[in-house]
Amino acid sequence: MRTGDDEDAPAARSAGELALELGRRVECVVAVRYSRSREHAIRCERLRQIEGGVARVTFDLRLAAFFSSAPDAIVDDLARWLLHGRRSRGAHTRLMAWIDARWAAQAPRTIPAWARRTAGEHHDLEQLFAELRSARGGQALARLDPVPTIGWGRWPTRAPKRGLQLGSYEHERAWVRIHPVLDTQDVPDWFVRFVLFHECLHALVAQNRWDGGAHHGPIFRRLEAAHPDTARADAWQTENTSALVRRVRARFARR
Ligand SMILES: [Zn+2]
Repeated sequence: MRTGDDEDAPAARSAGELALELGRRVECVVAVRYSRSREHAIRCERLRQIEGGVARVTFDLRLAAFFSSAPDAIVDDLARWLLHGRRSRGAHTRLMAWIDARWAAQAPRTIPAWARRTAGEHHDLEQLFAELRSARGGQALARLDPVPTIGWGRWPTRAPKRGLQLGSYEHERAWVRIHPVLDTQDVPDWFVRFVLFHECLHALVAQNRWDGGAHHGPIFRRLEAAHPDTARADAWQTENTSALVRRVRARFARR
């Protein structure tokens, strides 16, 4: 049951219905999927194929789920934006304003209580973070605003196939997670500290909109290279990744 919706809000459209409506407006084939992404409202791939000497354009769209209740005027604007991008000034502005309002209307997600656990069995993330900030290469982290929530992640529920994500940063909730596989005496302090540093740099770069959204862009790489442990962390990771993966898999083998 849904409550709190506007009374005159349009009925929800399925992805297929929206695709047809957009297709009619832009006069080409449009595919729509709704996504649960909280980061991207629109992802659009424009494909151009030549068929029998005629160029055929198709749009492949991933839209935030709230597009299912977009008013007709916004569907019009979306169609104009597909055809003309930012040059569709009025449509672009209205569309972005509507998206901003939809994001703002969503209930903010909160960070679960388990995510705030910093004291591991062998490594204390809070202490490592304090060391980072006062040591060479780590001073850039003084500019973090806000300082992200840092904590140990949870063990995965499925065995990893190949690699592991040793750390992650989520911008929406300003949340840095470190993989629990690193919480062992076999992993040196300085390596855990470096993984933490790497994820905090993601926070810093995202907060300042540096590197234009690139994942490991030039500013990120320059800040990372300023840390004295960069080279040995790289080498340690290369040498030990398979052992870490085995350690995670072993948890599943025991069941
Ligand atoms: Zn990274």
